[in-house]
Amino acid sequence: MDQQDSAASHGEHRTTTVEQGRFCFARCACGWRGPARRARSLARTDAQGHADGPTY
Ligand SMILES: [Zn+2]
Repeated sequence: MDQQDSAASHGEHRTTTVEQGRFCFARCACGWRGPARRARSLARTDAQGHADGPTY
C-alpha cells in the first residue's frame, strides 16, 4: 500500500502508472488496478484501454 488519491471524482477515469520494484502497473482513480507489467509502455496501454472502454 502506498499513497492514496483523495481527489477521486466520480465518473472520471484518471489513470496513472505506478512503479513497484522492477514492475509497473496502471492505476485509476476509480479504484481499478491493472496487472503488473515489466514495461511502463504496457502499463500505459492498460490504462488507456481502461479509460477508453469502461469495463467496471
Ligand atoms: Zn477507472
